[in-house]
Amino acid sequence: MTDQPGATKGGVCRRSLLKSVPMIAGAIISATAIPGSLFAQTKVSHEASKYQDQPNNGQQCSTCAQFEPPSGCKTVESPISPNGWCQLYVAKPA
Ligand code: SF4
Repeated sequence: MTDQPGATKGGVCRRSLLKSVPMIAGAIISATAIPGSLFAQTKVSHEASKYQDQPNNGQQCSTCAQFEPPSGCKTVESPISPNGWCQLYVAKPA
């Protein structure tokens, strides 16, 4: 028994495997070329993040790394208050 070009081993044809490489590369390139808006994340609701309009134990939106002045947040739906807080709080780096 000899190996023929394109013969299958373990159910996978080497030739068909090599033919699929450009298709896989194309799929990766296509995925990276799709506008970012298609992958835009939806923001977390006030309710889900347990947002409140008051600070919590000295933590508040204005000192959070997610805060986008004057009343936005990278993670939670706007509007938020600079004096608010939610359980997704992340302290700004010192
Ligand atoms: S505490 Fe919550 S709502 Fe406020 S900025 Fe940080 S992540 Fe956004």
